[in-house]
Amino acid sequence: KEWCRAIPKIELHAHLNGCIRDSTLLELAKLLGEKGVIIFADVEHVIRKCGRSLTECFQLFDLFHILATDHETISRITKEVVEDFAAEEVVYLELRTTPKNNEAKGMTKRSYMKAVINGLRSVDTVDVSFINLNGKTESFCEPVQKSCTTCMEKKKIYVRLLLSIDRRETTAAAMETVCLALEMREFGVVGIDLSGNPVVGEWDTFLPALKYAKEQGLPVTLHCGEVSNKMEIQAMLNFSPDRIGHACFLDEDDWEKARLSQIPVEICLTSNLRTERLSSIHVHHFANLYNANHPLVLCTDDTGLFSTSLSNEYYLAAETFGLDKKDMLQLGANAIEFVFADSEVKKAIREIFRAFERRLA
Ligand code: 5GP
Repeated sequence: KEWCRAIPKIELHAHLNGCIRDSTLLELAKLLGEKGVIIFADVEHVIRKCGRSLTECFQLFDLFHILATDHETISRITKEVVEDFAAEEVVYLELRTTPKNNEAKGMTKRSYMKAVINGLRSVDTVDVSFINLNGKTESFCEPVQKSCTTCMEKKKIYVRLLLSIDRRETTAAAMETVCLALEMREFGVVGIDLSGNPVVGEWDTFLPALKYAKEQGLPVTLHCGEVSNKMEIQAMLNFSPDRIGHACFLDEDDWEKARLSQIPVEICLTSNLRTERLSSIHVHHFANLYNANHPLVLCTDDTGLFSTSLSNEYYLAAETFGLDKKDMLQLGANAIEFVFADSEVKKAIREIFRAFERRLA
């Protein structure tokens, strides 16, 4: 367990609102209860409940979105989520979130994202590098780093953002998200994700926006095969996404296709178990993919919702599938190749892994 915590790690599949600390959720719920917006007692047991079904998870997301609707709260949760991942020795985090319009709060997709960026800027316990300038990365503290001993002592985490399209959205709303992502590239936005309730919405609705992202050179990752939907899985694989998440319901011919194109798979063990997409962890597709050397990366999905951490996911994989310390470190390092950030960032993360290995020698 200690080893899984100590090794440098890369997180590529984490939803901002799914990673809110329980303590923060309870605090927000209490405040809204006092204001009479919600009934705290009704909400408290939902937040505290463990082992939620897939439907309950999406009900809880609706609750999260009621609790975290203003700009200030979005900034706060972004800050806390980054701090929590850094505390776990995550050295590169690709955080995804769905930009939201909320007229009542004067929120647009753009102002939502500004609040996220403000959250990244407000982290002061960790050195957060998120700005992307023409292939060069600039740490938030970098201008003063050489003379600033505080910065040099701080942990460093690279953060990049993926903008999610929610499956409830229209083609126009999806397109708006892609355009916003293109506009915000210099603020560390590196790609697009398609997520949201997998039984809602049609692939064809999102396809024009996803195609446009691809044409503009913006990488795309898709929640693929979370439920059994052969037609959609085939259409998604034909789209040739840059990565896929979950992939629980792929048939042998789908895997053949994924194998041929070597699409990296974001594996979320606890999430898949909690939402009962598998009868047991022992039948998880991780083992087949790992043994076949298929590109894969262990991820958390929603640390808050599923009460997990990236160290815990590594530990679970090691325990269940018999991986040793060296395998775990290698598994983490392999993920460098699948990140959406540019080659400069990849080089920097590679160096972090090498430095860790040198310290061991
Ligand atoms: P947000 O995008 O609001 O920061 O994070 C929460 C959202 O991420 C949810 O409303 C949902 O759209 C998406 N999400 C989180 N976890 C999952 C998951 O396991 N599957 C799918 N399909 N979507 C998810």
